[in-house]
Amino acid sequence: MNTNASKSVRSKIARKVLDLPRSGIRDFFEIVSTRKDIISLGIGEPDFNTPWHIREASIFAIERGATCYTSNLGLLKLRRGLADYAQKTFNLHYLADKEILVTVGVSEALDIAMRALLEPGDEVLYHEPCFVSYAPEITLAGGVAVPVTTRMEDQFRLTRSALEAKVTPKTKLLLLNFPNNPTGAVLDEAAARDIAAFAIEHDLIVISDEIYAELTYDSAHFSIASVPGMKERTVFMHGFSKTWAMTGLRLGYVCAPPELIEAMMKIHQYLVMCASTPSQEAGVEALLNGALDVHKMRESYKTRRNFIHTSFEEMGVPCIRPLGAFYAFPGIAQFGLTSHEFATRLLDEESVAAVPGTAFGLSGEGFLRCSYATSMEQIEEAMSRFERFIKRLK
Ligand code: PLP
Repeated sequence: MNTNASKSVRSKIARKVLDLPRSGIRDFFEIVSTRKDIISLGIGEPDFNTPWHIREASIFAIERGATCYTSNLGLLKLRRGLADYAQKTFNLHYLADKEILVTVGVSEALDIAMRALLEPGDEVLYHEPCFVSYAPEITLAGGVAVPVTTRMEDQFRLTRSALEAKVTPKTKLLLLNFPNNPTGAVLDEAAARDIAAFAIEHDLIVISDEIYAELTYDSAHFSIASVPGMKERTVFMHGFSKTWAMTGLRLGYVCAPPELIEAMMKIHQYLVMCASTPSQEAGVEALLNGALDVHKMRESYKTRRNFIHTSFEEMGVPCIRPLGAFYAFPGIAQFGLTSHEFATRLLDEESVAAVPGTAFGLSGEGFLRCSYATSMEQIEEAMSRFERFIKRLK
């Protein structure tokens, strides 16, 4: 395309899309994907294959011709399985026929929830550092993203006082993600009750992205939706990507009051009709027979979590003990480089890839996200290279 033509196409692109930054993770990993010698602590997905019996369920679905659309809400047997699972695992009671919608990952759930709820100018509180998609999704839905910084000194916990400082009469939503990507922080019951009281007092809807719920290592997960008075105002999101290593099958779900499910369902039906049918069949199998898989993967992540956390401590690099998800978030400010400079030099000089904290918002400056969803051997080697690197910087 000649320059004038490309300028003219550009002038047609919506302003809010032109203004969106590209994901800091993707940019960084375009470099990584070109080099074979790199140890990557960058990828936010399980290093396990999807368990075979789950893959088989999806293969079998294709073999028997289960390749048509399902109900917009998702297969009823899957929603029934999800209702049972939510009850057993999270102490949440949802009705399969009107309070659960099966989505194309939590990614779609986030998008349709924001679009169903936000009017232009509505404010959304969310804690930062956070998953890369939150601020862009709020903006695309016409809302105003209002970050609330969490700090290493507080173990990256979200406090009611930090929220009180940012709430205004325009605040409509509070977006939560615990266990957290990228910090590894969790929300314990006392903190969840505190934040729930805040949401009730300010009449906010809470969107709770609990995609890492099964990956907690020192205590059981507690869902804010289980606090009395919260189910009515919570949009609970969860999925199969992390729990059963099913990222590419693109399967998630959202639970909420019936009116909200109906509103989200309208967007979902015009957007994607339904989640992939073979993936939904895989989801049914995961819920029925996948408990042991989750247990084994969690144990394995826990061993690696212990190792990576101890390594940073022994090197004198401050890092909170990640209580959930599969990320360590060490502080690297003492080395006098920005997160981006640090990550770039670590990659160039030691061939170790980690994500600059700023990919997760401005408050991520001074940190690095290191995923431990990679083999122990790779983590061990990455840690000795990291140590060699910081010794040179000191
Ligand atoms: N929410 C968080 C906090 C995540 O870390 C991710 C993926 O990394 C997602 C949502 C997206 O998940 P899904 O694969 O279900 O779309």
